[in-house]
Amino acid sequence: MAQRLIIIGGDAAGMAAASQARRRRDRGDLEIVAFERGHFTSYSACGIPYWISGLVPERDELIARDPATFREKFAIDVRMRHEVTAIDIERREVVARDLGSGGEVRERFDTLVYATGAVPTKPDWARTDTGGVFGVQTLDDGAALRAWLESEPRPRRAVVVGGGYIGVEMAEALIQRGLSVTLVEQAEQPMSTVDPDMAELVTDAMRAIGITIRTGLAVTGLEETDGRVSAVVTAEGPIPTDLVVLGLGVRPNTALAEAAGLPLGVTGGVRVDRRMRVAGVPGVWAAGDCVETVHRVTGMPVHVPLGTHANKQGRVAGINIGGGYATFLGVIGTAVTKVCELEVGRTGLRERDARAAGFEFVSVIAQSTNRAGYYPGSRPMTVKLIAEKPSGRLLGAQIVGWSEAAKRIDTLAVALWNGMTVDDMTALDLGYAPPYAPVWDPVLIAARKAVDALSATDR
Ligand SMILES: Cc1cc2nc3c(=O)[nH]c(=O)nc-3n(C[C@H](O)[C@H](O)[C@H](O)COP(=O)(O)OP(=O)(O)OC[C@H]3O[C@@H](n4cnc5c(N)ncnc54)[C@H](O)[C@@H]3O)c2cc1C
Repeated sequence: MAQRLIIIGGDAAGMAAASQARRRRDRGDLEIVAFERGHFTSYSACGIPYWISGLVPERDELIARDPATFREKFAIDVRMRHEVTAIDIERREVVARDLGSGGEVRERFDTLVYATGAVPTKPDWARTDTGGVFGVQTLDDGAALRAWLESEPRPRRAVVVGGGYIGVEMAEALIQRGLSVTLVEQAEQPMSTVDPDMAELVTDAMRAIGITIRTGLAVTGLEETDGRVSAVVTAEGPIPTDLVVLGLGVRPNTALAEAAGLPLGVTGGVRVDRRMRVAGVPGVWAAGDCVETVHRVTGMPVHVPLGTHANKQGRVAGINIGGGYATFLGVIGTAVTKVCELEVGRTGLRERDARAAGFEFVSVIAQSTNRAGYYPGSRPMTVKLIAEKPSGRLLGAQIVGWSEAAKRIDTLAVALWNGMTVDDMTALDLGYAPPYAPVWDPVLIAARKAVDALSATDR
């Protein structure tokens, strides 16, 4: 008799696991049922800001594989609009509610993949049914926001609450749609994924495209008129708006897991081993934004909710369930984003992370350009490196600059992943031609500067 795999969550991690398991085991050997409470499978939440801005015109362009494709090409029984409400590990059963009919189904499993993603932080003041207040976690959220933007009376003003990368991307998207946008951030600066000196460059770029930035300020409530939001409340007075977008971060979606007795780690994510098996619960796997992973530089548990990890972790789980062998080796915190033309990349530890982890370090900032200075299109690029003292091992890197800045972080990510020192890096054989780099690549200039800084200390 065929074994039965149940997947909870039909996006990146869940469907990557399902597809990989199917590639290795046919339907006679493994029956696969996937429950998704939303309307879409395998969609790119990462693309939502570009759909909202209009750069990506059609919603369906964000969908990699729809339920019909999974059913027809992968023989995966995808149950849309079905929310799993309980997991019984002893009886090897899940309970799901059909959100369309209201009915309930129970399904047996031999193997379970928990891939429920993350839940956005929603403060009490946002837990209302006031019209015009949106999160942007799922494609359904994006669709609701698009519908609001296109409804009458047309919103003209927006407040984005929270200046993480999603808040920044959404602020840009709304500016591009012609709204007047205010970003409210409780900390002293938006873009806290990089150090303050680098975040300042991003803040300047955001102001330059017309985003009003209010920092050191918390939203504490909403004002509404006729059921529609009309202002956000702050200690410095109300900020009038027709639309509020929440970008306050996320936490692992583990309510179901916790109720079923699955182990959670210190970050609140499900605890898994490197093959994505849930610790101590045979036959149960977890992947994506709902799990805790390890930071390869500090060795500490972290929750890093990114699509790049969710896809890899889902793939690892699926290969293992399919009878193969794969591992997920942890993260180093690499991420990229942009504000209009300004690109931002980071990898490894920020100064405050390095300090918190107990490292002694130097940090340097090198100014350079993306191309030879004389070549058309040459623009400034700022590279920051953080290197351990006295070893010189690269601990972290950040880049802010115009075209070709963001993906240069990958060179630094590879160096960091492999434990290179800044001394080693000065000798790297990186490509050079005037259209692509100055003769000394910005990465090499920064590495040399870090070596000088280390020499100046008593290492
Ligand atoms: C606006 C935005 C921009 C982003 N940009 C980037 C980026 O540029 N780069 C990057 O790497 N990452 C980015 N991310 C993060 C990335 O989208 C997530 O890390 C990724 O989607 C996580 O995949 P997942 O499968 O773990 O979770 P999700 O994508 O959240 O999928 C989980 C699914 O489970 C379903 N579900 C949850 N509970 C249940 C239940 N009980 N029953 C049934 N179904 C359930 C949900 O409906 C959801 O579809 C972005 C995210 C957002 C929101």
